[in-house]
Amino acid sequence: METRFTNQQLHQAPIKMANDILRNCVHCGFCTATCPTYVVLGDELDSPRGRIYQIRDMLEKVQPAPANTVRHIDRCLSCLSCMTTCPSGVDYMHLVDHARNYIEETHKRPLGERILRNILAIVLPRPGLFRLSLISARLIKPLRTLLPGRLKGMVALAPDSLPKAEPIGTQSPQGDVRMRVAFLPGCAQQVLAPRINAAAARLLVRLGCEVIEPDDLQCCGALTHHMGKEDAALELAKYNIEAWERANADVIAITASGCSSMVKDYGHMLKDDHAWAERAAEISAKTRDISEVVSELGLEGVEDFDKPSVAYHAPCSLQHGQKNIDGPPNLLKAAGFEVNTPKEAHLCCGSAGIYNIMQPELGADLGKRKGDSLDVLKADVIATGNIGCLVQIGEYAGTPVVHSVELLDWATGGPSPLK
Ligand code: SF4
Ligand code: SF4
Repeated sequence: METRFTNQQLHQAPIKMANDILRNCVHCGFCTATCPTYVVLGDELDSPRGRIYQIRDMLEKVQPAPANTVRHIDRCLSCLSCMTTCPSGVDYMHLVDHARNYIEETHKRPLGERILRNILAIVLPRPGLFRLSLISARLIKPLRTLLPGRLKGMVALAPDSLPKAEPIGTQSPQGDVRMRVAFLPGCAQQVLAPRINAAAARLLVRLGCEVIEPDDLQCCGALTHHMGKEDAALELAKYNIEAWERANADVIAITASGCSSMVKDYGHMLKDDHAWAERAAEISAKTRDISEVVSELGLEGVEDFDKPSVAYHAPCSLQHGQKNIDGPPNLLKAAGFEVNTPKEAHLCCGSAGIYNIMQPELGADLGKRKGDSLDVLKADVIATGNIGCLVQIGEYAGTPVVHSVELLDWATGGPSPLK
């Protein structure tokens, strides 16, 4: 794609990066067919190619982001399906990340939206506040029809009850330690489904790992990062890098693929910061999705019992962001489960961080579409690998939803997640 940035603009690192990415796009349009928002809305401006043009124009003109461009960028799920499809290797992820930062810096959103985004940026990364807000939402749930649009959707998402915390602490295997593994509690996950990390820890201990969950970690920064609040995201990244350095683990295992994608990108986010670049790259290199850790160790001790059939939903952050498509289903098959995948497996479920809150109609359309495509497989259980997908699909599918690692833990001696 032709670009017309001035030399002065090209001396800024983010513009130089954007220019390099834009020039890789040959505007073939292959990406449109696999973009969820284009599939649902049928508008070129809501396709990857359309967004790439809009981002180029916005950045070249050095003007506050136009409201129309903001609308179409906001509708992007950052699902990265377009990157899987693109034959030219266009790095859409880092392009749209920069566009979101630019929008946050130059565009003044309506007051109500600014307040909502700031509340979400404060509450969601703080488990204590998040728990409190879910309890409050549950109390006003019966009155939700009286609430305005987005608030109504947010309150509807609040679960009827919250599980007890299940901190992992430090756990050692019997015998020699094969690997020292540090966990990330996950800010939403430790409130909504602490059983996931508990299952992962049991499984890793059985496979010979020493497991630790540093208690001084914070949110990985993904939620603020995807809102374009880059300074806040970088602050969280630096805080966590220090905490993981202190933990001195061989590997960082993360059970929410949205979070593992983010931590794997710390190296890129801090590459121009001389004090942090090397440290961030080291932490990124140590970071694994939980399925990668189990694959590296090799699944052992599979018990012989009748196992339910599984419909596997691949989170976008895992299949498109990390290019880990076969890892979890292959592990499930090795554990004796029959695994099927739905049609349109590449399409996002509509969760995408806070997308289902900020874009409730589109999020619901995609949620229903995904729920139906999974239910039609008539499996006993749906397995996935990201807390956002788990909650969203749980809302729209009639089949119970668990994390893949819970099934692997069950197959090797842990409790059934289906009780
Ligand atoms: S598929 Fe790649 S090269 Fe083609 S329009 Fe989309 S982003 Fe550009
Ligand atoms: S990230 Fe997803 S929603 Fe955004 S343009 Fe790419 S395919 Fe479409």
